[in-house]
Amino acid sequence: MVFAFLTPLWIVVDLMILPWPLSGVLTGLRLTATAAFAGLACGFRNTERVATALVALALLLSIPCLFFAISVPSLSGIALEPTQQVLASGYAFLPYVMVAGLAVFPITAVEGVLLAFPLIASQMTVALLGFPLEPFSYYLGALWLLTLLAVVATLAGMSQLHFMTQLVNQASHDGLTKSYTRRVGEELLDVQFNAALRAGLTLSIAFCDLDHFKSVNDRFGHEEGDRALKRAAEAFRSVLRRGDIIVRWGGEEFIILMPNTSAEGALQAMLRLREVGLGLLPDGTVQTASVGVAELTADHSRNWSDLVETADKRMYKAKKTGRDRVVTMGGDIVVARFPREANAA
Ligand code: GH3
Ligand code: MG
Ligand code: MG
Repeated sequence: MVFAFLTPLWIVVDLMILPWPLSGVLTGLRLTATAAFAGLACGFRNTERVATALVALALLLSIPCLFFAISVPSLSGIALEPTQQVLASGYAFLPYVMVAGLAVFPITAVEGVLLAFPLIASQMTVALLGFPLEPFSYYLGALWLLTLLAVVATLAGMSQLHFMTQLVNQASHDGLTKSYTRRVGEELLDVQFNAALRAGLTLSIAFCDLDHFKSVNDRFGHEEGDRALKRAAEAFRSVLRRGDIIVRWGGEEFIILMPNTSAEGALQAMLRLREVGLGLLPDGTVQTASVGVAELTADHSRNWSDLVETADKRMYKAKKTGRDRVVTMGGDIVVARFPREANAA
């Protein structure tokens, strides 16, 4: 949209300094480019897919590319006075500006090469087709300079991409347990819930709350408490499938999201968790947890928060009936206890 506003501004200068009909041709070109920029800005707003964003970027760059390929030949055919020559040179700079402008976008090395190539190619095509505004040797030097600019701009884009990826990672992962933060977890729940509904697949979640965790902190200190949380998250990871998602829902509460998993499958996972255990505390006792399991179809959940609420209620039931257990379907079936001997071994 910025380009749509900036492109027509120069029309006044062209009309004042360049001879007619050349200035008319350039005005027409600028108006066309303005319409193209505006169309692109309106058509691609609010896109969330990377592929669509890349197509939009490629289209964005193709506009000045075409602008250059049409404007330079029209400028080269006419004998210009020195002032007019200066203005015409400005048109020859366009590929440099566009290649340098690539640095604005967070792109990968491959994307940098693919996006810079047409810009450099349009410059060379104009030179080779015999419309040079400058002597041919100038264009060979230009090729060199353009390539260097493309490399530097791509490196800038890559470092931007790296920085952004790190920021997103930091914001979406809890530093202590390396599981997803609640904010991202809620979005993942929403996405997974709707995907499961659409595909007619099942989806299970387990709400896990560590037992008597306040007393772990009180007895062994906060740092030991942190270590216990880390161990619990590692235990979750070791028994879950690759596609399963671990979310740190609150201080010592985790939600485990198991896509395409029936209640039976979720229970199997909790039984595996029971075998592995959640780790030992400094005094040799085992860390236990109360777990509530819920499943999309069997629990008739209308949305993801329904599902979480059901699992939360069952977790609460596990607490009330003595902790250290898993409550699943129907809410009254107490299935598993975290064993003491097996873990201590
Ligand atoms: P219950 O069995 O009923 O769940 O008892 P609880 O003590 O686990 O439950 P409660 O909710 O009363 O206490 C949770 C405690 O977890 C309180 C807080 O000190 C501790 N906690 C929460 N986040 C962290 C953390 O990041 N690190 C540590 N060390 N402790 C935490
Ligand atoms: Mg709690
Ligand atoms: Mg607790």
